[in-house]
Amino acid sequence: MAEKHYPRCARCPTRVCENRGAGPGEPPSLEKAPAFCPMKLMPDVYGEAMAEYDSPGVKEFARLASVQEFQCYERLPDGLRTRLPRVEELIQFARKCGYKRLGIAHCGGLAYEAGLLSDVLEKNGFEVASVMCKTGAVPKERIGIRAEEKIAGPEAWETMCNPIVQAMIINRSGVDLAIMLGLCIGHDTLFIKYCQVPLTVLAVKDRVTGHNPLVALYTGETYYRRLRNNID
Ligand code: SF4
Repeated sequence: MAEKHYPRCARCPTRVCENRGAGPGEPPSLEKAPAFCPMKLMPDVYGEAMAEYDSPGVKEFARLASVQEFQCYERLPDGLRTRLPRVEELIQFARKCGYKRLGIAHCGGLAYEAGLLSDVLEKNGFEVASVMCKTGAVPKERIGIRAEEKIAGPEAWETMCNPIVQAMIINRSGVDLAIMLGLCIGHDTLFIKYCQVPLTVLAVKDRVTGHNPLVALYTGETYYRRLRNNID
């Protein structure tokens, strides 16, 4: 079989980049990395990437993100414990960055959650803009959806999700940080493509797992065993 020449960290048996198998204080032993390791396949990229951290603001942003990561744990006598849900991390990180106005891009299916999130963020001192995917009220026919492809039925008016306009509205709203909340797959891709402000994700859409797509992976040996097959 031909050698696969692309990175596959998810298949790595060593994870030496995070210093697995080395003693405390020892540097990573990179020769133990597998042949498909990006450090071996694309070594030139690393210098290019590290130079980016010297761009104005990038190094400080990266530093604040790592400080936030650190603050998500506490060291106790019996080991490390996690301590912050993502929404609390969001608040802390936004404060660290000095952000004042946040912008939620949410799905119509998560309008309730968008209200909850607005409450929490406003209580914590932020201005909160928000824009729902159906804004613009454009019918799905505009992007070529056929009658039989409408969720509510062929006769129904159905408004398209409009992630491009969501992004444009977020871009114009003077927000310091955009927060994606439950956008559909593909719509989220378009939102990311058009969003021009710093962007983070609070949740992705998963209609059957309470927006926790990893549930289907965690139960992949039981209820979602079908995923192991070549599904349609
Ligand atoms: S970067 Fe290399 S060593 Fe690290 S997980 Fe990926 S393949 Fe493994």
